[in-house]
Amino acid sequence: ADVTTLIARYVRDIPDHPQPGVVFKDITPLLAHPTGLATVVDAITAPLEGRRIDLVAGLEARGFIFGAPAAVRLGAGFVPLRKAGKLPAATLAESYDLEYGTATVEMHADVVAPGSRVLIVDDVLATGGTGRAAVDLIRRAGGTVVEFSVLLELGFLKGREKLADVDLRALATV
Ligand code: IMP
Repeated sequence: ADVTTLIARYVRDIPDHPQPGVVFKDITPLLAHPTGLATVVDAITAPLEGRRIDLVAGLEARGFIFGAPAAVRLGAGFVPLRKAGKLPAATLAESYDLEYGTATVEMHADVVAPGSRVLIVDDVLATGGTGRAAVDLIRRAGGTVVEFSVLLELGFLKGREKLADVDLRALATV
């Protein structure tokens, strides 16, 4: 099956997770499908064939699952973008507002050399706060964001509007 069909069939809705009123998109059935992960990694990397990518930055935690094999495919390194307090060495941090409170994304300060060309990968684009923070981290380090690639864009949350200055690719949009 093609990537659009796989996402439509194997990403499921979980009502009221993680809180009442939220419908969570659960990608784990897609991961369990025998060709699911390979098909998604192909779809993320195929448009970038022949373009120089130095690093793939994956957002914790599901961005790691797709980002690491994408890095292997592209012949690039991998950079984990993590939640606050997880990375052991000196970090750059970006905080952003959630509906209640704030969240922080961190990256090791020495991993993106100035001029590096970086692909950012995550599973779901919702309000765009996480993606915005990721882009700002890479740029603060002097990197160029070649593309921000997600499996699924929740269009009704308008996260794309926060990323108007980024090449954003969604494999599917709902
Ligand atoms: P945003 O910052 O509101 O765009 O939320 C995106 C981040 O939250 C990503 O790292 C996603 O992994 C996660 N996320 C938000 N909503 C969902 C969902 O419905 N399913 C899976 N992950 C989600």
